[in-house]
Amino acid sequence: MFRKISLALFVLPAFFQFAIAQKLKKADKVILINLETHIRFLADDKLEGRRAGTAGEKLAGDYISVEFQKAGLQPRGQNSWFQPFVIDDGKQITSATHFSINNVELKSDKEYFPLAFSAIKNVEGSPAMALQESGVPWFIDLKEMLDTNQNNPHFDLDNSMHERVKDCVLKGATAVIFYNTSKLDDNISFNAKDKSETATVPVLYVTKEARKKYLKDESASLEVKINVDITDKKRTANNVIGYIDNGAANCIVIGAHYDHLGYGEDGNGLYRGPEKMIFNGADDNASGTAALMEIAKLLKQSKFKNNNYLFIAFSGEELGLFGSKYFVEHPTIDLGKVNYMINMDMVGRLNDSTHVLTVGGYGTSPSWSTIFQTTNEKKYFTIKFDSSGTGPSDHTSFYRKDIPVLFFFTGIHSDYHKPTDDYNKINYTGELYVIKYIFTLIDELNDKGKLAFAKTRETQTASSTRFSVTLGIMPDYTFSGSGVRVDGVSDGRPAQKAGLKTGDVIVQLGDYPVSSLENYMQALSKFKKGDNTKVKYKRGNDVSEAAVQF
Ligand SMILES: [Zn+2]
Repeated sequence: MFRKISLALFVLPAFFQFAIAQKLKKADKVILINLETHIRFLADDKLEGRRAGTAGEKLAGDYISVEFQKAGLQPRGQNSWFQPFVIDDGKQITSATHFSINNVELKSDKEYFPLAFSAIKNVEGSPAMALQESGVPWFIDLKEMLDTNQNNPHFDLDNSMHERVKDCVLKGATAVIFYNTSKLDDNISFNAKDKSETATVPVLYVTKEARKKYLKDESASLEVKINVDITDKKRTANNVIGYIDNGAANCIVIGAHYDHLGYGEDGNGLYRGPEKMIFNGADDNASGTAALMEIAKLLKQSKFKNNNYLFIAFSGEELGLFGSKYFVEHPTIDLGKVNYMINMDMVGRLNDSTHVLTVGGYGTSPSWSTIFQTTNEKKYFTIKFDSSGTGPSDHTSFYRKDIPVLFFFTGIHSDYHKPTDDYNKINYTGELYVIKYIFTLIDELNDKGKLAFAKTRETQTASSTRFSVTLGIMPDYTFSGSGVRVDGVSDGRPAQKAGLKTGDVIVQLGDYPVSSLENYMQALSKFKKGDNTKVKYKRGNDVSEAAVQF
């Protein structure tokens, strides 16, 4: 659909780049052509946005593996070029789920659905709606709960429903069937990402229309049959890994993520229109992936033999660094021998007037400051240094394993995480210069041996713009247990002051149980600056509580 727009816009940048290209060497012109070929392929609608664990991601992964092979690399995944890993896709209701009233089957989704924290169970009984007797399913109207808490800013419907179910079970309910006769909307849906404590009985929700149809007479005795079946949904994504073995002691890791947002199914896109659109991710991060493939070719042909090289195209980055995290936990080379890691994420939109290039990880080795003073190519760029080894991309996973990192990024733009991040907006010449710059750095470091590592500050979490308060933690997005696992703690922020450390799992904030990132954020939204509360967290098997001031 937006290909039409793409073609119209293509004319200007193409002419412009052609003018510059005239002055480039032949080898550079070849790289320019390759970059455009790679990015046009990876950012094509056919790949449907390369969402991790989809057919589009597979096409992209195959393409990268073929390019790695052409470059003369060796496969270094677990399954040839590929390193598969599983992404937890939440829960799903299976077709074995049934609900009938007086032998009339209710329509799943339209008339009822189980809540994600429902027990997986089969229950039958003959209750009357008005009577709440032991040994039968109970019907609970949400009206009172909603109406009385209408102006209560601390009210949490999810939490209240959990408590209500527990209370009903104590009094003998064998299932809980919620409905809502209030004028207030409850916005209840099946929340696939729910990781809260599972109830001991089936918990269903009956929609407004279905309530009017089947549950009119509150005194009538009903024949109720319930079967709830919910399973875990999973999908498999792949890192693509190639290797150059120079027989050296140390290895340089060069990485770029190749996954993107698909159609925005995971809720990480910034386009929220009614039309289904593909997020092509040309800059984010077909650009880095293209650079990765070209640098692999250059290094294979180079005379820099003092290190081995590992090239990783990561998947699952957009979900929270899943692929790089999986790699550092399941490395296919000895991580202790990694000299340093270079990450490229969004290197295709160099501004032609400012030439600003952001280089992160500057503080992760004392060697970086020396090397950046001598490297010539920097003259082309205005370099903005960021000392932190952490940030919103895959180098973070390597930094956390005490590996010096550098992160290259040409800057944020208005197409970021939108369907308009297309190949025609890439500054191919700018990207060529980024590649040449990285190549020069590797050259300068070739005979410098293994770099020393240094710890840096943590970068702020991105959520600070959406909430009036934050704890100052970096959550572990790949954590699949109940709670929010801390991946990093920012200096001087409430979490650090409360004594939280990396690896702790937050399970409660104030009165709000925390089982997932989603309800952690909901809980955060209930606090203001200056508020005092308590945070409950697990460290190993111990549960502790600490005072927090926002
Ligand atoms: Zn992204």
